[in-house]
Amino acid sequence: MSTQTEVRPDETTRDQTSEDTPKFFHYVKKDKVAESAVMGTYVVALCGEVFPVTRAPKPGSPVCEECKRIYESLPSGR
Ligand SMILES: [Zn+2]
Repeated sequence: MSTQTEVRPDETTRDQTSEDTPKFFHYVKKDKVAESAVMGTYVVALCGEVFPVTRAPKPGSPVCEECKRIYESLPSGR
């Protein structure tokens, strides 16, 4: 069977509102990311951004400045 039926959200939808906003990746707890990827639930990033996890961040992708700042201000380790 080679019939590929992929249902995708329209992630390439570009209307006239094409601001050249880079796609930032936000810091989200790892267990939440896994849950979201499976369940399709929304996650809350460190900066407060709420979004569904649809893909893993690629190396070199820009990271949300606020998330980064909050993340670095967190106590490392436990
Ligand atoms: Zn963020």
